[in-house]
Amino acid sequence: MKKRIAILGSTGSIGSQTLAVVREHPDLFSVSLLTANNSVELLEQQAREFNVPNVVICNPEKYGLLSRGLSGTGTKVHSGMDAVCDLVTAPDVDIVVASMVGFSGLRPTLAAIGAGKPIALANKETLVAAGSIVMGAAAKNGVDILPVDSEHSAIFQCLLGAGPNKLEKIHLTASGGPFRTWPKEEIAKATKDMALKHPNWNMGAKITIDSATMMNKGFEVIEAKWLFDTDASKINVLVHPESIIHSMVEFADGAVIAQMGWPDMREPIQLALSYPERLTLSNRKLDFPELGKMTFHRPDLDKFPCLSLAFEAIGKGGNVPAALNAANEAAVAAFLRDKIGFYDISGIVSDCIASVEFIAEPTIEEIFSTNDEVYAKAKEKTGRW
Ligand code: MG
Repeated sequence: MKKRIAILGSTGSIGSQTLAVVREHPDLFSVSLLTANNSVELLEQQAREFNVPNVVICNPEKYGLLSRGLSGTGTKVHSGMDAVCDLVTAPDVDIVVASMVGFSGLRPTLAAIGAGKPIALANKETLVAAGSIVMGAAAKNGVDILPVDSEHSAIFQCLLGAGPNKLEKIHLTASGGPFRTWPKEEIAKATKDMALKHPNWNMGAKITIDSATMMNKGFEVIEAKWLFDTDASKINVLVHPESIIHSMVEFADGAVIAQMGWPDMREPIQLALSYPERLTLSNRKLDFPELGKMTFHRPDLDKFPCLSLAFEAIGKGGNVPAALNAANEAAVAAFLRDKIGFYDISGIVSDCIASVEFIAEPTIEEIFSTNDEVYAKAKEKTGRW
């Protein structure tokens, strides 16, 4: 029996690489659902190649175009977020790859969890904004959340060797992004094009900017806290520019276990799909003498204030991480449209998390209202910053 996969955000970087994994193992995997926001052409091509029964284009204005493109094929075309939330719960879905960008991934992920579908989680914003709710729903429904984020996949793999022992510390590695070696005055003048040049990983625009500000690493601290039920104070962010060690765990006796490989997202994606089995993969294998050496540094919190803001938000808890995420999403969107400067992102996020009305134990409705209110407020700030 093939494992039938739903891919939310199939035209993005993780979605496309998930399909590359399916292409390598057509005897093991099939695709039952693909969704995208706007990329009609690529979605049509993917639906044809993988003979997908259902596709959703979230933007309703693109429905006609996709529908015409796929007429005469066996693919049913739907539109809108409600269709995504409905179709992820269908009986022909065995696992959901949650790889939408940003807060928009939360609703369909919760719908899939509610229907008992295992989640291969790439959309970290889901856990940043609503970690306690998502993990609570997963526990209640007996659903596995399998990390696709390379660091969290690494921690997950390292913990397979832990036995009954609790981890003492997580060493969460970070490449440091394109501005790691730049002086602060130069970073302040960085443009969108400079920020979009990530040294090691080929990713979508939003996460690439988040990597340049290191907000991505802050989000990953929050993600790790929820996935591995640990305190943020036990998570040590470690800059490792070669991105070979994807993360490490440390135990009471000081023993450290690491997971390594050349940076290639197909590896964590494939493991999330095949777990507990490991399958062959046509990736580049590590050659240690060729690699030569690995280096490590402490993160520079003065140059990358977003990392401190994320620790501050998770320290406060409640709805503050949701505010952090919403403000960042609005600020990054403005930076990508050349409306604000690089350090305005952290400035706007800082203002927004300081002024959000605190809710200690937010309901899902309160997470949505916090998101909407803070996003609107941050967006307004980007207009007159
Ligand atoms: Mg990552």
